[in-house]
Amino acid sequence: MFLFSSHAIGQEAIWEPIPAVITPGDRTSPPSDAIILLDGSNLDEWESTKEGMAKWKLEDGGMSVVPGTGSIKTIKSFGDCQLHIEWRSPAIVKGDSQDRGNSGIFLQGNYEVQVLDSYNSKTYVNGQAGSIYKQYIPLVNACRPPGEWQMYDIIFKAPVFEDNGDLLSPGYLSVLQNGVLIQNHVELKGNTAHGGKPTYEKHGKLPISLQDHGSTVSYRNIWIREL
Ligand code: MG
Repeated sequence: MFLFSSHAIGQEAIWEPIPAVITPGDRTSPPSDAIILLDGSNLDEWESTKEGMAKWKLEDGGMSVVPGTGSIKTIKSFGDCQLHIEWRSPAIVKGDSQDRGNSGIFLQGNYEVQVLDSYNSKTYVNGQAGSIYKQYIPLVNACRPPGEWQMYDIIFKAPVFEDNGDLLSPGYLSVLQNGVLIQNHVELKGNTAHGGKPTYEKHGKLPISLQDHGSTVSYRNIWIREL
C-alpha cells in the first residue's frame, strides 16, 4: 500500500484549484450541476431537427417518439459532456433486427449511440443496442427486456478541428448501459454513416439529437454536464 504516494520523488501535493462541490443525485435524480434536458413535464429543451417544435408525446414521466414526426434535437449546443439518458423500447414487440425499437442518440447530431431492442433479438453486431453505429460493437449486451427502462451514461470528448477543417483530434465515446461499461473510450472514425466510410466534417458545439426511426421508443430523465 502506498497511502502517501504524493510524497514519492517528483510528486508534490497540490492544493488548488479545489474541485467544485456538488450534490450527487440518488440514482433517480440528477446531480446539482447538471442541465436538465427532460424531466417529463415539458419539451421546452427540444425542437424538431427540421423545423418548429418537437412533436413527440409526453407520457409516463418522459416522452415518446411519435413515428413520422421526425427526429428532435436539443435547443442548446454542447461539446464535451457527460450525458445521462434513460430509454425504453416498446413493450409490445414488433418487427425484428433494425426494425425493433430503433432510435438513437446522436452526439453533436453526428455520432450515434444506437438505441434498439437487442434483448433476444439478432441484428448485425455493430448496429445492436449500445453500438457506436457501424463503428464499434458493444463490449457486452447489457440490455433489459422490451418495456423496461434502461440507462445510458455517456462520456463524450468532442472532435477538434483546425481552421481549415482538418481534424486536429478525433472524438471519443465511453458508454455505460445500466451501469455496465459497454464502450471504453473508443475513437470515433467520423460521422455516423449508414453505408460507406465515416468521415469527419468540421463543426463546433452542436445540439444532441434523438432519432425517429419509426418506433415508439420512449425517453426520460435526461440530463447533461458540460465538461
Ligand atoms: Mg438508430
